[in-house]
Amino acid sequence: MQRYVIIHYHEIALKGRNRPRFERQLLENVLARTEGLGVRAGRRLPGRLVLTLAPDASWRAIRERTETVFGIAYLAHAYRTPLDLDALRDAVVEAVPQEDYETFAIDTKRGNKRFPLKSYEVNADIGAAVETHTGKAVDLDNPDLTVSIEILYKQMFFFFDRVEGPGGLPVGVSGRVACLLSGGIDSPVAVYSILKRGCEAFCVHFHGHPYVTRTSEVKSIELVRQLVRYGASPYLWSVPFGPLQHEVMQRVPEKLRVVVYRRLMARIGQRLAEQDGAAALVTGESLAQVASQTLPNLATIESAVSIPILRPLIAWDKVEIVRQAKAIDTYDISILPGEDCCQLFVPRHPATATTIVEVEEAEGRLDVESLVTRGTETVKRIDVREMSVGAGEMLSALATF
Ligand code: ATP
Ligand code: MG
Repeated sequence: MQRYVIIHYHEIALKGRNRPRFERQLLENVLARTEGLGVRAGRRLPGRLVLTLAPDASWRAIRERTETVFGIAYLAHAYRTPLDLDALRDAVVEAVPQEDYETFAIDTKRGNKRFPLKSYEVNADIGAAVETHTGKAVDLDNPDLTVSIEILYKQMFFFFDRVEGPGGLPVGVSGRVACLLSGGIDSPVAVYSILKRGCEAFCVHFHGHPYVTRTSEVKSIELVRQLVRYGASPYLWSVPFGPLQHEVMQRVPEKLRVVVYRRLMARIGQRLAEQDGAAALVTGESLAQVASQTLPNLATIESAVSIPILRPLIAWDKVEIVRQAKAIDTYDISILPGEDCCQLFVPRHPATATTIVEVEEAEGRLDVESLVTRGTETVKRIDVREMSVGAGEMLSALATF
C-alpha cells in the first residue's frame, strides 16, 4: 500500500490570512529536513500537510528528523483510500498491526460533512471488522492502539501511531533575529525558544582569544550544530573580543566594565544584524540572575542599540533553563570547561545598578565607534557544517582537562 505522512499543526495558532504562508513555510521546512529520506512529494490539504513516501522510505528516519520541526502538533505514518467505506474497511484490516496490543479503539474525524455516514457509524463498522480480523477487544476509554481515520473531501486517510511534534511556529514566519551565543547554558535555550516562535535565527559569539583559549568558540560551534536541528542557520559569526576588552580595561573603571562589554557586544551585534538581515537581537539574560542582569543594567545595555533586544528567558528560573537545556541536548556542551571572554578584566563584584549617564561618561574615554568597526571588520563567519576536524572531538579533548 502507498504510504504517507500526515502532519497536523495547531490551527489555533493561525489567524485567517496568515494560514497559507504558515502552511507553505512548514511544508518547506519539513521537505528541507527530510531531504534524501525518500519523500516524493509534499502537499497542503485543508488543515494538514501530506507527504507521499517512496516504497523504501523509512518512517522512523523521517520521524526522527521531523520531531524537531517547529509548527508540527503531531504527525503520523498513514495510508490512503478513496471515499468508500468498503475500501476503507479492506485497507484498515490489511494494514492493522496484529501484535503488541490487547485493546483498540477507532477514532474517526469527519472533516467532510457530506460523507453519508456519521463518525460513530464509521467507528462501529470499522471497529467490528478489526475485532473480527484481529480478535482484539474494543476499549474506548484507554485503548492500547488507536486507529485514526480522517475523512476528507476527495479521500480518506488512516493511521495507527501518532507522534507528538514540538509545537510552536514554523521557522521563517516571524522574521529574522541575531542571537548572542556564549558558551554557557542560557543562550542556547534562548535561541531554541525564539526559533520556536517562528524566527529565523543566526548566532554571534564573542571570544577572548588570544587572552584566553579558544574553548568558548569551539563550544559555540558545537552548540550551533545542535541548534541547526531546530532550524537555526548553520553558521556562527565569531568576533575577536579580547583586544576590545583590553582597550576597555585600560580606560573604564572596573565596576562598569561588564556593562560596557555588554553594550559593545550589543552594538556589534546590531551591526551584524543589519548586515545579515536581522531585525532584533536575542540574549539569554534572565532577570536578577547575575549582577549584569538587574533592571537598571538591562536598561543601560539596551540603550546602546536601536533595535529591540529580545530576552526569551527573562522570567525563567535557572532550574527551568537547565531542564530545557538538557531536553534539547545543549546542556552537556554548555557545561564543558570553557574560558569566557566576560571573565576577562572584570572585578568579582561588578556594579548592579549602573546609570546610562555614568556609563556614557565612561565610554567617553573610548573611541566606541572604532571599536565597533574593529569588531565588525575582524569577525569570522564559520560554517558549522564545514568543520573538518569535528568540534565534537575537540570538545571531548577539552572535557579531559
Ligand atoms: P549564558 O549562560 O548564556 O552564558 P549567563 O547566565 O552566563 O548566560 P551572562 O554571562 O551575563 O549570563 O550573559 C548574558 C547574555 O549575554 C548571554 O545569555 C548571551 O546572550 C550574551 N553573551 C554573554 N557573553 C557572550 C559572548 N561571549 N558571546 C556572545 N554572547 C554573549
Ligand atoms: Mg555566560
